[in-house]
Amino acid sequence: MSHKGPYYDAQQVCVKGHQITDSYHRFPQRRQEHCDKCGAPTIYKCPKCDAEIRGYYNVPGAVGGGWADRPDHCHSCGSRYPWAELKAAEAIASTIHAEREALELPAILEKLDLSDNWRVASSALALFEVLVNRKLENLKLQTNGTYDEKVSRLAVQLKKEHIPFDELMISSLRTARAKVLHQGKEPTENELTDIMKYLKTATYTLFPG
Ligand SMILES: [Zn+2]
Ligand SMILES: [Zn+2]
Repeated sequence: MSHKGPYYDAQQVCVKGHQITDSYHRFPQRRQEHCDKCGAPTIYKCPKCDAEIRGYYNVPGAVGGGWADRPDHCHSCGSRYPWAELKAAEAIASTIHAEREALELPAILEKLDLSDNWRVASSALALFEVLVNRKLENLKLQTNGTYDEKVSRLAVQLKKEHIPFDELMISSLRTARAKVLHQGKEPTENELTDIMKYLKTATYTLFPG
């Protein structure tokens, strides 16, 4: 191909946005099937309309300089190139993430005058209930009834099997549950330590190994 006037060469870019060459036609040896930075496949045409991605602007007779910038949109059909599409998707994902963060518990906890200790304690207490349910299921026992009914049902069965299921643990967790979950009060540091300790013990007891 001969050019009398100035013309754009084509630009080859990997779909993630790394420029491979801005002189696709002039220097065929610079072409790459895949990106040497990230391994993604490369393109030199718009996937939507097939127009070549504009690369180096050649002015016959002039001494060239500089690189062509990587465009984000096709000059011909206006659609986003894959890397720009990717960037847009990432922007949406990060907005969603930010909104979720903004909605997150800290603000609500603060409003209710509850600390992070409360959040940890309530999760641990909920986890204990899940442990009890799972164990009942494993033992083919009923999982209906109130929390206390379930815990005692499990305690009775474990006693038969000579598995230790500490009375003190059960009553401490019941007390903590009433305070933290039902009355919505802060656990003391000691209470929180106990809750965590009991949760660990219960986990090892009910699901050893
Ligand atoms: Zn790449
Ligand atoms: Zn296009």
